[in-house]
Formats: sequence, C-alpha cells, structure tokens
Amino acid sequence: MNRDAFTTTLWQDGFNIRIPEKETGNVPFDVIIVGAGITGITTGLLLQRAGKKCLILEAHTVCFGTSSATTAHLNTVLDNTYPGLIKKFGANNALLIAQGAKEAIHLIKAHIRHYQIDCDFEEKTGYLYAQNKKEDAELETLLEGMLTVGIEAAPSLTTPVPVPFTTAIRFPEQAQFHPLKYLFALIHQFLAAGGTIREATMVQQVAEKENVREVFTTTGVYRATDIVYATHIPPGVNLLHFRCAPYRSYVLGIRLKDNSYPDALVYDIEDPYHYFRTARYQGTPLLIIGGCDHKTGHEVNTEQVFRELEAYAASYFNIGSVPYRWSSQYYEPADGLPYIGLLPGNDDHLYVATGYSGNGMIFGTLAGRILSDLITGVDNPYADLLAPSRIKPVAGFTNFIKENADVVKHFIGDRLSVETLEVLAALAPGEGKVVKYDGQSIAAYKDPQGKIFTLDPVCPHAGCLVQWNNAERSWDCPCHGSRFDVTGAVLSGPAQKALEQLGGS
Ligand SMILES: Cc1cc2nc3c(=O)[nH]c(=O)nc-3n(C[C@H](O)[C@H](O)[C@H](O)COP(=O)(O)OP(=O)(O)OC[C@H]3O[C@@H](n4cnc5c(N)ncnc54)[C@H](O)[C@@H]3O)c2cc1C
Repeated sequence: MNRDAFTTTLWQDGFNIRIPEKETGNVPFDVIIVGAGITGITTGLLLQRAGKKCLILEAHTVCFGTSSATTAHLNTVLDNTYPGLIKKFGANNALLIAQGAKEAIHLIKAHIRHYQIDCDFEEKTGYLYAQNKKEDAELETLLEGMLTVGIEAAPSLTTPVPVPFTTAIRFPEQAQFHPLKYLFALIHQFLAAGGTIREATMVQQVAEKENVREVFTTTGVYRATDIVYATHIPPGVNLLHFRCAPYRSYVLGIRLKDNSYPDALVYDIEDPYHYFRTARYQGTPLLIIGGCDHKTGHEVNTEQVFRELEAYAASYFNIGSVPYRWSSQYYEPADGLPYIGLLPGNDDHLYVATGYSGNGMIFGTLAGRILSDLITGVDNPYADLLAPSRIKPVAGFTNFIKENADVVKHFIGDRLSVETLEVLAALAPGEGKVVKYDGQSIAAYKDPQGKIFTLDPVCPHAGCLVQWNNAERSWDCPCHGSRFDVTGAVLSGPAQKALEQLGGS
C-alpha cells in the first residue's frame, strides 16, 4: 500500500486492499467527498448511512495521506492545551471541545462495537511529565485546565517510561488503535451501504451550475449537491491556507531487547515534544516513539532528525532493532482549534475540515459527525465553535502574524539566496537541492543511479519555493505544505498541479 512518502509506516505494511470499481453513471450524487483519510471515510459512512448517496474521490489510493502515518493515540487531552483554549475561547467553549474529544472516542468505540471491528483498540491511561522547575509549573497549569473542562486527571508519583522526570500527572480514558484496520473496516461498511469510491482521481476544480456542483477531476466530471474537502488542507488558495501552518513529525517503531514497553500513552512537555506508546507488530510489542516536529521545509537534513530521535530513544531504552521509521505532516491552526464547516468565501454547499494539529484521529472523527449533521440539517453542538468563518481578532492573532511573516519570507526571501550550478554536479546520489543555473532556480534531484531530475521549484499553489526532504525524497513547500515527488507529481495538496519538469539527464 502506498502513501505520500518514501518510508513505510507500521500500519501500511502488509495492507493491500483493492477498492472495487463501480460505474458512477450520470445521475448527480447527493454528496461528493474529496479525500479518503479518516475525515473523508468517516463523513462518507455517516452520510451514506443517513440516506445520502455518496461518492468519495481520492487522488491516489485510499489512506494515501496522513491517516496511514499517524501514531493513532485517541486523546481527550489535546495538543492545543486546555489552559490555552480557556484563555482564547472561554471555559465553556474549552469544555465543549473536551466533550467533542470524548464524543469522537465514543463514536469510534460505537463503530468498533457495531461492526465488530478487530483493530487492536485498547483503552489506556495517559501520562504527562515535567523535567524541570519551569515545566513543573506548566504541568500544574495543564492539570488545572484539564480539571476545569471535566477531564479526569491527578498527580502521579510514577510514569511508565524510564525517562527522568520531576513531576507527572495521569489521566485515564485515553485509547489507541490500528488506524488502517479501523479505516478499512469503515470503507467496507461504506461500500456495503451503497457508497462509491473512485481512486486515482484528483479533484482539480469545483464549479456551481444550476444549483449542482460540478467536480472536475483527472478522470472526468462528477456532480453533486454538496461537496466536502476532506483533503487535510483544502486545495486551491483559500483564507484557511493563511490560518494553518504545515508541520512534519517523526516516528520510530522500535523492538526492545528487554520488555520495558509502556502500557500507556506517555508524553513529555518539551517543545518540540516526545511521546511513547506500544503497538503490536507481528504478534509482539513494538515501542512507538514520536516527536522532533518542525515546520515543513524548515529542516535541511530530515535524515538527521531520525538519527536524533533514535539517539534520544537509545539514551533511555535498550534498543534491539528499528524496523520502522517514518515522518508525516499535520496542520497547526492559528488560533488552536480546527476549522470544520463551510469553506469561507464559497457558496453554502462546499465544506471543509482542516487544522487538526496532532489530534486528527479525534478531530477527523468529530468532523465526520459535524459535517454529516450540517449536510443533513441536524443541529450540532460543535458546529458554531469550529466554523471556519469564525473571526477571532484576538485569539490566534499573534500566531497568525508569526506564521504569515514566515510565509512572506519564503515568497520573497528564498529567491535571493540559492546555490550555484556547481552544487548540481556535486549532488550525491539520492540527494536533492534547489540550485541556481543561469539566473534561474532549479529543484534538482539525483537518483541512486545518477540520473538527474530537474523541476521548477516554484510551488504552483501560491508561488513559494519548495525545499528538499531527504528522508521522504520529496519536495515540500514551506508555506502551505504541498508536497511533490521527484518527478514533480503532487503527493499532497493544497497544490493541484505538478511542479513543472525542466528536463533530466
Ligand atoms: C506523525 C504523525 C502522528 C500523528 N499522530 C496522531 C495521533 O496519535 N492521534 C491523532 O489523533 N492524530 C495524530 N496525527 C494527526 C492525524 O493523523 C491527521 O490529522 C489525520 O490523519 C488527518 O486525516 P485526514 O483524513 O483529514 O487527512 P489525510 O489522511 O491526509 O487524507 C486526505 C486525503 O485526501 C487526498 N487528497 C488530497 N487532495 C486531493 C484532491 N485534490 N483530490 C482528491 N483527493 C485528494 C489525499 O491523497 C489523502 O488521501 C498525527 C499526525 C502525524 C503527522
């Protein structure tokens, strides 16, 4: 099974599921859902079950995006902390979000029970720990925030990982699962309920015609009343691209020499943070350790990040082997909450769900609930708070400026400081770099056989310069997170067009 990267995740290995081809006919669908990750699949199933005729269009193969690269923690304690959310949105709204996270886990559990899904779902206790005085104070504030929004939590004198700590807290009722076992079971139910999935179909444009939306794709035109962009970040250039910043996050799957696998979900509170869980691998446990996040396109040597993460793990655990290592992308919202609902600036039949931070299993599931309620006309308690149209001049304003200052730097600054042609010749096999030749910037990649692929490095989405990601062998856009393979083809949006090929050796 493929994904939008070079490395293979624990979940993908051994998964090879064919989606049956089905005639789509000429009759419009009720809803077209663009993207087959946890958001698209959950939304599709809920809508199909509510009597809507649904088509899911996927640019590559199902679960090609981040949903196959997640670490699949199911948390009610979110990356954007409750004290922060209380400050920006008020205690009642923070409480609502905590309820939404609980409801998402409840919905996943209900699916597992109802459809009898075997997906390694297990309830776990979560732990957060501090490692110095400053973090002790931070942890105390985090605990207060959790209690304010009704999350059960208490101080703990121990943690289940051999990392030194000063103070710790524990919070029950978290969970973990195997994301692909879960999602493929939902796909099966979606198809069994009469839904249609079309893979290898990239959506390029949506236009309204006589109250029907025409969806122009690489395999033809499809029609529907309502459209959902479940693409992790919406395609095209939209206000949301200036409110969501792309980040990459790194994961190792480690076999230990001893048996010190944590039976819990554990996190430090460093920035960037580290986290731990245990998964099943060929019938035996595997330590999953993640972290070292950075803004997409801002790390010159992404291979080095894996090495740093492994060195970090080795300083606390007795490593036997590292059968898996992968990285993937998530989107950080400017004000700390995801954007789920009508896409701003469009007609009222075009929906979106994005800006999940590292909690997309939760928010992707909650988005399924919210979007299916919005489309079927059912009141939803979270819809107003998470509506993309929300205007929060104070909340998120500082972040908004910070992220955009960075975007501006990449729009203008990058063009002034590129390498010379000599670098092209000096490229090592498997290496990529943006170089300058005859006044023109070129994204150059040399494959292991020495063949050079050259591309125009200007991202067709909004004109930023792409950066080489050596671990995943992709060109990543630092502005909005579009990613391209070495031939220029789109791996992940929002770009809908490939990088222009300039030729090769
Ligand atoms: C390393 C890492 C670890 C994480 N761990 C956790 C965790 O423990 N718990 C948690 O809750 N969250 C976690 N997350 C976040 C979570 O995995 C993601 O937020 C979630 O998977 C996003 O799901 P999605 O369905 O919205 O997007 P995706 O899974 O990315 O799916 C989007 C799909 O849309 C398709 N697509 C895009 N553009 C088009 C187009 N124009 N036409 C057709 N198709 C298109 C793509 O090919 C893709 O298949 C993690 C993220 C990372 C990076």
